[in-house]
Amino acid sequence: MGTRVQPKHNGRRRRRRRNPLPLLILLVLVVAAGLLLYSCAGQDDGAAQNNAGQTNTGGGEDEGSPDGGNTGDAGGETETGDTGSTDGEDGLPAGYIVQTMTEADMGVGEQILVSNEHMYDFPEAAESQLVRLVDNKSSSYTSNVNDTLILPVTVEHLNELLDDYVAQGGATDIMVVSGYRTYDFQQGLFDRNAARNGIENARRFVAQAGGSEHHTGYAVDLYSMNNGDYFEGVGEYAWVNEHCHEYGFILRYTEEKEEFTKIGPESWHFRYVGVPHSYIIVENDFCYEEYIDYLRQFPFDGEHLTYTVDGTEYEIYFVEGLEVPVPESGDYTVSGNNVDGFIVTITK
Ligand SMILES: [Zn+2]
Repeated sequence: MGTRVQPKHNGRRRRRRRNPLPLLILLVLVVAAGLLLYSCAGQDDGAAQNNAGQTNTGGGEDEGSPDGGNTGDAGGETETGDTGSTDGEDGLPAGYIVQTMTEADMGVGEQILVSNEHMYDFPEAAESQLVRLVDNKSSSYTSNVNDTLILPVTVEHLNELLDDYVAQGGATDIMVVSGYRTYDFQQGLFDRNAARNGIENARRFVAQAGGSEHHTGYAVDLYSMNNGDYFEGVGEYAWVNEHCHEYGFILRYTEEKEEFTKIGPESWHFRYVGVPHSYIIVENDFCYEEYIDYLRQFPFDGEHLTYTVDGTEYEIYFVEGLEVPVPESGDYTVSGNNVDGFIVTITK
């Protein structure tokens, strides 16, 4: 697809130090910058704008303004800097604000990691969004029962995945046999499996209550009716596994990653994590646990992860804790990781 991971060193993201200069000196510098701009006019417009931007925002010391090249924004910067705005107080680059999150927020969003080690808290913000699969699914697949619940974003992209699968000649017998599960439902599954196959088997193949991705509404289990068994993703069904990341899904539990996931291979369990995350995970052969750790290499005040899918550029960074810098405007999402922080995904 011509896509690749591109860790980007972005000097513009450095934290801006609080300006130590008194107002008077700043004003003098601004006037000097104006004179410099005037003197440079006609020689090199781009250079003149750069000089003006740096002087306005930094007083000669601070080079951290992302909008340094934009004289319009730089003018506004000077005003807010002089008045000691929250922008300066927070030490954030221009164009960012702090979004204060809660511990509960950390368990909400498309990129949460849920496992026996990182239990799900059933936040109301997610529970209240659940819808009935049968009311929202396309005609390309079926559901085994009418009361299966799911998050809208999951069924929307599942529809696209399986519509395209059928359109390119795929089988029409795929059935969703599990979507959202309550805590009690998962407890019942675990107990029944343990009674039937022993506690060790249950621990390997059934998440504990609170530790199942099915609690989140982002996971589905597929079944192929012709085979009369859980979906194996081979033969005529292999297309689904090979292309699912293009629709934001990953195959969550594979044999080779069991040491990380602590769950045996499940060729039928698909998890929605969203584009471009699904692409990066597949390209690097990560399981989700590994991906959540990998993102720690891209903190807000360091290099950000950039990735391009079909001409759309995404920028991703990780923030530990509850104070999350986000763009002042534009298209972005904030998701908890359900461990210790938040993942910000900006669509350029
Ligand atoms: Zn499952």
